Amino acid sequence: MRRRCSGAPGRGQLVTLVVVCSALLLRWASADTPPHEGPREGVRLSDAWLEKALLLAAGGSVEEAQSTTAALTRAAAGDIASPPPAGRRKRPPPPQAHSPPPPLLPPSPPPPSPTPPPAKAVPVPAPAGTAGKKKRPPPTFPLSPPPPSPPPSPPPQKGSRKRPPPPGVPPSPPGTPSPPRKPKRLRPPPPELPLAPSPPPPPPPRPPPPPLQQEPDIDWARYPSYAQLSEYLALRVAGSLGRCSLASAGKSVQGRDLWAVTIGDPSGVYYPDPANPDVPFPKARAAYIGVMHGDEKGHISAVLRLIGELCDPLSEPKFAPGGVQDANVTDLLASTVLYVLPLMNPDGYTATQRYNANGVDLNRNFLTSAFPFATPTPADGYALQPGTSSALYNAAADWTDNGGGGSHEPETLAVMSWLAAVRPHVSADLHGGAMVASYALDACDSRGEDLDCPSPEAPLPGYLANVYSMNHPSMRFSWGEMQASRQVAFFNGTTQGATWYPAIGTIADWLHHTYRRHMLTLELHYYKYAMFTADKLNMYATNRASMLRLAGVGGHMGLRALLRDATSGAPLAATVTPQQPGGAWAPEVENGGLVWKMAMPGVTYSGTIMPYDPADTSVSYEPIPYSFVVPYSWDDVLAKVPRANLAIARVFRAVRVGGPAAQASTATASPPQLQQQQQQQQQQSPPPNAPQPPAQQQQQQQ
Ligand SMILES: [Zn+2]
Repeated sequence: MRRRCSGAPGRGQLVTLVVVCSALLLRWASADTPPHEGPREGVRLSDAWLEKALLLAAGGSVEEAQSTTAALTRAAAGDIASPPPAGRRKRPPPPQAHSPPPPLLPPSPPPPSPTPPPAKAVPVPAPAGTAGKKKRPPPTFPLSPPPPSPPPSPPPQKGSRKRPPPPGVPPSPPGTPSPPRKPKRLRPPPPELPLAPSPPPPPPPRPPPPPLQQEPDIDWARYPSYAQLSEYLALRVAGSLGRCSLASAGKSVQGRDLWAVTIGDPSGVYYPDPANPDVPFPKARAAYIGVMHGDEKGHISAVLRLIGELCDPLSEPKFAPGGVQDANVTDLLASTVLYVLPLMNPDGYTATQRYNANGVDLNRNFLTSAFPFATPTPADGYALQPGTSSALYNAAADWTDNGGGGSHEPETLAVMSWLAAVRPHVSADLHGGAMVASYALDACDSRGEDLDCPSPEAPLPGYLANVYSMNHPSMRFSWGEMQASRQVAFFNGTTQGATWYPAIGTIADWLHHTYRRHMLTLELHYYKYAMFTADKLNMYATNRASMLRLAGVGGHMGLRALLRDATSGAPLAATVTPQQPGGAWAPEVENGGLVWKMAMPGVTYSGTIMPYDPADTSVSYEPIPYSFVVPYSWDDVLAKVPRANLAIARVFRAVRVGGPAAQASTATASPPQLQQQQQQQQQQSPPPNAPQPPAQQQQQQQ
């Protein structure tokens, strides 16, 4: 073909030849449609078409056109015969002789430069097209770059773009000059076409993403590294204008800090008692602990973003719907100090493993003498009870044989100390692998035989769990799980830990037995590590309301009172003897004279406070009876009633025995009311231990 085109014809013929050549090129290029047919077939089929083209375009005679066509066809046939027959696209690079195609890669080669290698001469390889196919195998060449994927289709721009890659290859090594057959030429014509269409795609100028140092936010579609997480916390706290503080609660086995963020001023106060508007109360304390198990990363974004929002001085209007202040956020910050330890197991998190660097399950590592049952023995651990999961087995193994050695891990000790200092009124540790809010207790005995050992405070813990699950868009619908062929039903997405599956040595049980505080074990995502991006991104959005409500209400619902010397106003200590409801924990008296008791709405709590002055035990005080009822239902607690309404705020002024008058205490409830309440209490039966629906509970109490 080349020759023909480059020959020196007359002017009139020039036009004709150009047209014919172009037509042939196009036809040939498109002739490969049938993969196995080979180019020849294409050429034959194009005879009629060529003739027409000649006649119409060149205006020559029919005979002339026919002869020209015949010649062209012969030439094309010869050319094609030599080259690899089979489909050019898939055709593995033929022997070296064929290899030449690669050189074509550089689509640039303008038509002129291509030397006139006698196409026919090239056929050095073999005569028959089939021969060419068979020869492929021999190609000692690392034809690996099969890219020589020949000329796809002439017009397709894609083909031209794909070629670029191979060019770099040393394709031409062997007799490069050889038969730069049709494919090469084909390109020349199409090149212009592709260029035309290409223009549309405008080059999108993307500015490189700003480095993390400049943007104190994280790509929540990914799990942040420990370093990113640490930086995020530092930046958020630094930008909080004093609202938040950051400290290390201790070090992991591998030396990583267990970051603990304090949101709000621990020494801050608020004024909850309308009857004593000038008496400041210490704020309530709530705590969240994230990622105890290093492979349960899904909720890391929730705890981090909670910190990010609450530590941002502008967060309230920014995050609230419609840009209006979120009452929950405002109230939480005004009345409560929130403590968040987002990553308890940084080593496991970094390694994406459940255990810490010593291979110990941290949520089975809190066993102490405070537990009401003996330390499990290996026999306990291996005595897997029917109907239970392997959790107990792991528990005892961790404690005695699996690296636990009966001792507490560094992370465990650090968090124990942190919790002992914080003493949260309400708290939760966060996990993944299920969707449920689990409450005390997690273990009933050292063998995991008993699956139902409610807290003495039951059903309070169960309702506390409802505060979380019922404010969550999907947790409330979590129906249950199968555990070792035993079906466990969740109620509103809540369950008692041991009923789900016994686990010995959990942090929640430790806090329960040691400090009599309620800590929920929250399973926030069905998948531990591998989560959908959407779930990662939505983790905070789906948990925000629950986290705010639990933290903002949990520490306030019930009695919050100050105990002071009626004369000096000095804070006093006291021993408290509860009367109602039976079995419930007595109100706790903290340093500074704060008397508090988490209470069930609608239930009457009563008892006697015996004040004393730890600094001067020679002084005696009159006993102070107390009684209160949170005048709301659990439905109200879940979301409706403002935090302030759920708290019974009082100031008890203790009168010294033999002291001035008998003003006694200033219990808000009047004597008549107390009597009435006590009578009612006697008629009431202690609340059942098993959690019940708010409606049921309410009716029962009433
Ligand atoms: Zn877990």
